[in-house]
Amino acid sequence: MDKIGVLVTHKPLPYLEQELTRRGCRLFRLWESPESCRLEFCRENSSEIRAIVGNSNFGADAATIDALPKLEIVASFSVGLDKVDLPKCKERGIRVTNTPDVLTDDVADLAIGLTISVMRRIPSADKYARSGAWKKGEYTLTTRFSGKRVGILGLGRIGLAIAKRAEAFDCPISYYSRSEKPHPNYTYYSTPVDLASNCDILVVACALTEETRHIVNRAVIDALGPKGVLINIGRGPHVDEPELVAALVEGRLGGAGLDVFENEPHVPEELFALDNVVLVPHVASATIETRTAMADLVLGNLEAHFLKKPLLTAVV
Ligand code: NAP
Repeated sequence: MDKIGVLVTHKPLPYLEQELTRRGCRLFRLWESPESCRLEFCRENSSEIRAIVGNSNFGADAATIDALPKLEIVASFSVGLDKVDLPKCKERGIRVTNTPDVLTDDVADLAIGLTISVMRRIPSADKYARSGAWKKGEYTLTTRFSGKRVGILGLGRIGLAIAKRAEAFDCPISYYSRSEKPHPNYTYYSTPVDLASNCDILVVACALTEETRHIVNRAVIDALGPKGVLINIGRGPHVDEPELVAALVEGRLGGAGLDVFENEPHVPEELFALDNVVLVPHVASATIETRTAMADLVLGNLEAHFLKKPLLTAVV
């Protein structure tokens, strides 16, 4: 990949940066430009840039693609492609790759971890032990996770991995997707509201599209109810965040475990004081093992493209 110009939209994993550099790529570090100058930066370097490495926060929107007439491939350091203008890429014949499978286990692990953290109040129990409050009395009783009904919005790779883990806790599994899947042990509901009405824990694991934006709305939150728990390891815009915040503050929803937010890195401050809410900063795939495997997939796809070999994980 000697001298190939690669636009990197975000501060990458040091390993990915080293490996791109070691392969002779010329890196254009978009994240170092002030936000208002980014398109100009693309235009100034457009004669050299043939690839974009994006991530879940900054992919390749129409304006960026339009600024890069020599762009051939968008290799996303994420499985979700909601920040890539796929129709535009198709129209321009630009290839698109993502990083499926290698992150599935970590994201599913975090979904279960968040669920148990919310129901057993692990973060606030930890604070209780550290603060010495225990000396004044026992910590409050919490809620069991084992055996509770788990509903999954989007039974794809990650949804299925969450289902398998929850089954090991004796949880009955149900799900909503656009189509029923060949999993006879799991109950299919044809609407998100029906799913939410029939589960104790609702986990969001679908792709973010125009159809799934705010798939968790007031009606779904109300159906989940004051004992229900919402877990979001999908994308922030899957959930109508003001509705979620209001339901939690007013006690109309039992709890929430959130890895993703509508306006990252901003987290609604009203949630900070709530013990029934666990907040983590979009870290579901953030282990050394998974991020390294994701970097290897990005590198493998770029190499395949520039060596004119089949892409490893082609989307477009
Ligand atoms: P996947 O295998 O492609 O699964 C996506 C699922 O979304 C499918 O089950 C699909 O089911 C469902 N879906 C798509 N459109 C839908 C709609 N209109 N209504 C209901 N369900 C719909 O992808 P994956 O690898 O499991 O990843 C899923 C998502 O997780 C990604 O897109 C990404 O946004 C998110 N994610 C987040 C993190 C994180 O760090 N928090 C990390 C990785 C991934 P049908 O086709 O049957 O409808």
